Amino acid sequence: PGVPDLEALQHDDLAWLLPVPGAESDKYRRGVVGVVAGSTRYPGAAVLAVAGALRGGAGAVRYVGPAGDAVLAAHPETLVHSGRPEKAGRVQAWVVGPGLGEGPGAGVAVGEVLATDVPVLVDADGLRGLAPDAVRGRGAPTLLTPHAGEAAALLGVAREEVEAGRLAAVRELAGRFGATVLLKGSTTLVCGAGGGGPVRVNPTGTSWLATAGSGDVLSGLAGSLLAAGLPALDAASCAAYLHGLAARRASEGGAPVTATEVAGALRGAWRDVTAG
Ligand code: AMP
Ligand code: MG
Repeated sequence: PGVPDLEALQHDDLAWLLPVPGAESDKYRRGVVGVVAGSTRYPGAAVLAVAGALRGGAGAVRYVGPAGDAVLAAHPETLVHSGRPEKAGRVQAWVVGPGLGEGPGAGVAVGEVLATDVPVLVDADGLRGLAPDAVRGRGAPTLLTPHAGEAAALLGVAREEVEAGRLAAVRELAGRFGATVLLKGSTTLVCGAGGGGPVRVNPTGTSWLATAGSGDVLSGLAGSLLAAGLPALDAASCAAYLHGLAARRASEGGAPVTATEVAGALRGAWRDVTAG
């Protein structure tokens, strides 16, 4: 008997996977998540990634980038830094990529964050041109969260090829990069680093999630769970589960939702899964 090919995450799994702060906890012990996102052109991606990060169980969110004013206006609890990530103070996990834009700055930011010894989630513009060797040698877990187009670019194949073989694609990426990979789409797949174990399938998605900015909320959320101490496979699969459930809640049985509303509904989704 080999490993099963697929695993469906269950509601009950979430209750014991999600972090709960103990009586002795403080904001640093709960974990600090660093978010490197946004640009002059795309400040909203930073706001949405921070929105997700604030609701993922970490004790504090540090934002590093040029959209600090927009982030603070939306989320005054954020610790905002304008310099380089390594000067921002201790963080337990980094999220890098949403809305960084097409310029060379994205690759520089990704390189700096990958050079740290803590878990890193790379999404969106951070995935452009990412080389397996930049990830493989890391001493801490890396989580990649591509949609089909980003996955195709990382693999050097056409998008249609990824769409036609999503299971093979997520395994191939996890193997090549030595990273946990969350492949977004109508069903989100999560594969542990190396690509050999069972692939987790998220059952909570809804096509209302196909809306601008929803991926940014997901990456902040997953990064926050990483900072709170979850292993990358669990952080990714819990984030996908909560994100889908939040979209369903916000959609109230079938109305369009915004990414901001999905972020706002994460609290209720969390309550749903922990209340049993
Ligand atoms: P992004 O592509 O980064 O904007 O992220 C989009 C988010 O919406 C991801 O969480 C996807 O899994 C989700 N999503 C996109 N299209 C669909 C769909 N047709 N059905 C369900 N979820 C979707
Ligand atoms: Mg995206």
